[in-house]
Amino acid sequence: ISKAPTSPGLHVVHIAAEMAPVAKVGGLGDVVTGLSKALQKKGHLVEIILPKYDCMQYDRVRDLRALDFEVESYFEGRLFKNKIWIGTIEGLPVYFIEPLHPDKFFWRGQFYGEHDDFKRFSFFSRAALELLLQAGKKPDIIHCHDWQTAFVAPLYWDLYAPKGLNSARICFTCHNFEYQGTAPASEMASCGLDVQQLNRPDRMQDNSSHERVNPIKGAVVFSNIVTTVSPTYAQEVRTAEGGRGLHTTLNLHSKKFIGILNGIDTDAWNPASDSFLEVQYSATDVLGKAENKSALRRQLGLSRANPRQPLVSCITRLVPQKGVHLIRHAMYRTMELGGQFILLGSSPILHIQREFEGIVSQFQNHDHVRLILKYDESLSHRIYAASDMFIIPSIFEPCGLTQMIAMRYGSIPIARKTGGLNDSVFDVDDDTVPLQFRNGFTFLNADEQKLGSSLFRRS
Ligand code: ADP
Repeated sequence: ISKAPTSPGLHVVHIAAEMAPVAKVGGLGDVVTGLSKALQKKGHLVEIILPKYDCMQYDRVRDLRALDFEVESYFEGRLFKNKIWIGTIEGLPVYFIEPLHPDKFFWRGQFYGEHDDFKRFSFFSRAALELLLQAGKKPDIIHCHDWQTAFVAPLYWDLYAPKGLNSARICFTCHNFEYQGTAPASEMASCGLDVQQLNRPDRMQDNSSHERVNPIKGAVVFSNIVTTVSPTYAQEVRTAEGGRGLHTTLNLHSKKFIGILNGIDTDAWNPASDSFLEVQYSATDVLGKAENKSALRRQLGLSRANPRQPLVSCITRLVPQKGVHLIRHAMYRTMELGGQFILLGSSPILHIQREFEGIVSQFQNHDHVRLILKYDESLSHRIYAASDMFIIPSIFEPCGLTQMIAMRYGSIPIARKTGGLNDSVFDVDDDTVPLQFRNGFTFLNADEQKLGSSLFRRS
């Protein structure tokens, strides 16, 4: 009997707005890197295309160099040159697109939140396809992510497949249906999409306004397969309450829509080799965890009087989705119960950032509470390692990675049962789940009392 021939790997190209650790805002960045590494390990050829942001962490890119060919791409009736850079991130080949456009789309000092984000990312989506076409690449899969690169799906089938870039099938992953990138329909013309053809209820037209287009809806309609980041969230977004106006579209396309639970990159998040930590440790040698707790308390100026005093932490973007009022409540409740609390987070929303700045000044030099309102990669590793418990009280959560990272570092998650948290955190007292899968504390109602009792509960 002859063995089946080993199939050569697939050629997968990710087109994305984030990639950890160089350009990361949240979980999307982790997933683009983690998934690409996992596919590469399985023998697939994986390449990533990113914008060349000025604010990237360039010290984490190896062998960065400009290619000697420029790619011309269409925008607003003209052709613009793009300088193409190539480099290696975490062993993965990455192309960076630097548009030579007077608006300096990616020279803004931040990744998102600009007034012209729709233009910036529709330009990028088109330039990325142009790069694939002009470089003569023949990928099997083009994988685009979130609304910023959702334009790739309609652009591919309407413009690029006819030009001969037609080897690929399109996979679109939505990491959060809250962000849909809708805009007045006319804006879509800038990147060459046909407004007349696409601003229709069965195509890109937003389900709540005839004058607006919705990039996420366009990607759902035009991709070959559409995924989101957990099975529970995939169910939730197919309901009127959870779908953010897209539930009818997702139900119509349910045959190609599937929820796949994210994982974490267990090399990047590994307490046994993590160089950010005071000392490395593992599940079979947890003494080091106590040393990390002591070191972090010293670093942050928290009381070290009682090594057994529980340390509860939270690392998050401070946006309503994350249950901001519950995070605040958990902080006060932890103090009442005699624990210590650390929050690492920042907010793109001014009034939330202000509110937490108020709390920071209230707790200046406090023995048991520390709030650090910024993005800090190395501190995040040290907090995961030092904590005893980790709270994730999200109102909704497509997948959530922080509960997985916390578990990897031996911190017990306390999570609300929603979305991907429901697929990854199983309560110690839940008799319906086999004992060996129970790994944390969960609560259902998004109220302060339920969270409080989870913090208090012992098993
Ligand atoms: P989301 O994608 O909604 O932000 P996830 O839980 O999927 O949430 O991913 C969050 C990722 O961002 C995790 O890797 C977490 O450690 C990281 N993170 C969030 N806030 C900060 C911060 N202030 N500093 C460092 N890392 C952060």
